[in-house]
Amino acid sequence: MAIARGDGTEPYALTVLYGQRHLEEVEASKRVAAQLGAVEHKFVRVELDAIGGSALTDAIEVPKDRDESKMTDIPVTYVPARNTVMLSLALGYAEVVGAEAIYAGVNAVDYSGYPDCRPEYIAAFQTLARLATKAGVEGRPIEIRTPLIQLTKPQIIQRGLELGVDYALTHSCYDPADGRPCGHCDACLIRLKAFESLGMKDPAL
Ligand SMILES: [Zn+2]
Repeated sequence: MAIARGDGTEPYALTVLYGQRHLEEVEASKRVAAQLGAVEHKFVRVELDAIGGSALTDAIEVPKDRDESKMTDIPVTYVPARNTVMLSLALGYAEVVGAEAIYAGVNAVDYSGYPDCRPEYIAAFQTLARLATKAGVEGRPIEIRTPLIQLTKPQIIQRGLELGVDYALTHSCYDPADGRPCGHCDACLIRLKAFESLGMKDPAL
């Protein structure tokens, strides 16, 4: 969202409540959208936990202290079809408010296991967005922008710092306890290591 702002846009924020086990990230999204001045912040509920199949929506344990070399397999924190559902909602929302682009923070580098974070997937969705919308058919296709897709985690943090992102407002952990990051899931490990490599302390801890 900070990058979208930096591009001179007036961003609308979309948070999806998809049946995730904890709502820390939803609370964080409210803080971040307010701080970055979203024109509007929309919350949409989709009960993906009715389908299940993920440690983020089911009673499957979130893996802890995994070796980074093993983070290349598709992990149990993968949520079946999540990004397709979320981008579809964003596409509808974008068309309603007349947005020219959707910004999605997917990343293919740190999480190479997630099929719906890859450039091929985004390119396919871009084709869909052109064919599936009135805007696209009328020659004003909504662009899917993924500025983080090829950056490493330290590069992402650096980019945010340049744009004035307050990381104390953010949340990445898959399995927080009492609102605090666990420090041991894949998301925590990658984030902690990235801050460390920049010689910084994670301000959200
Ligand atoms: Zn964690």
